[in-house]
Amino acid sequence: MAEQTPGEQAYDDGPVAALRRIAFLLERGREDTYKVKAFRGAAAAILPLGEEAVAAAVADGTIRRVEGVGPSTATVIEQAVRGQRPDRLARAEAEHGGPLVSGGEELHALLRGDLHSHSDWSDGGSPIEEMAFSAIELGREYQVLTDHSPRLKVARGLSAERLARQLDVVDAVNDHLAGSGFTLLKGIEVDILDDGSLDQGDDMLDRLDVRVASVHSKLKMEADAMTRRMVAAVRNPRVNVLGHCTGRLVTGGRGRRAESTFDAQAVFEACAETGTAVEINSRPERRDPPTRLLELARDLGCLFSIDSDAHAPGQLDFLAYGAERAEAAGIDPDRIVNTWPKQRLLEWARS
Ligand SMILES: [Zn+2]
Ligand SMILES: [Zn+2]
Repeated sequence: MAEQTPGEQAYDDGPVAALRRIAFLLERGREDTYKVKAFRGAAAAILPLGEEAVAAAVADGTIRRVEGVGPSTATVIEQAVRGQRPDRLARAEAEHGGPLVSGGEELHALLRGDLHSHSDWSDGGSPIEEMAFSAIELGREYQVLTDHSPRLKVARGLSAERLARQLDVVDAVNDHLAGSGFTLLKGIEVDILDDGSLDQGDDMLDRLDVRVASVHSKLKMEADAMTRRMVAAVRNPRVNVLGHCTGRLVTGGRGRRAESTFDAQAVFEACAETGTAVEINSRPERRDPPTRLLELARDLGCLFSIDSDAHAPGQLDFLAYGAERAEAAGIDPDRIVNTWPKQRLLEWARS
């Protein structure tokens, strides 16, 4: 190992871990995707080379010629190979490594998993296995993979055929992770169509562990029609979670969007009656439902699911935001389905 100069910190996790950690922290801190891509791309480029070949390429100065490695990622790799904590990693830890929010810590610690996340099969940024590894690193017992359904073309929603292939990949990932105590669960974020029916066939939906249903189109539909649409969806026995119920956007790069209008009392009463969980969507730009509706759902006896809706591994940590809101609203942890043991969760989702 190379000698360290004073002030440098030792680092022995290796270059792939350093690049992945930087990317995770940037995603968690909601940095632009293009900044993150370089680090994820470089990690993917050097992983198959193996540690010895990477160390040799650093030693003879050819690491910068590896496809997918650029000047800043090469510096990270060189420092990590030399056993120094990369400067870029130290900076990312300082900027984005602290607590995301204050409050909700106790509830956050009770969350065993997450019912809503996306991979690069639809509009997420990372492969399925990277999402799974990151969930394990966060101490989760399970993660539900919920890529989009066919009609959401902008998000590359999965046809029945692609979903069937994805389920084989999920099986393969779980085989690989056997003995880890972690399970990647099969799921979908299925579009609620205009008439309240679902954008995937019953036979495919029946092959899944958990089904989140969300409105993504015609968000400005007239209130009575929207109420009928949402009530029909949450009464569908295959639906487990009502995703981001108002569709609002409160901040962030996608701009702002008003809440859909509907009879929230009627929708939440249907949720309470059928045991469909109301999602507390943790994405900072959604914060959905708004507090007054969160409290209404609480008072009507609904179940809840605190979901990250992660589109990148670092966003899996967003559950902290949802936990803060749920705790502030005084929601009993036992009404939050992702505090339950996995077996109880799966039985609820099947029934
Ligand atoms: Zn959605
Ligand atoms: Zn989603």
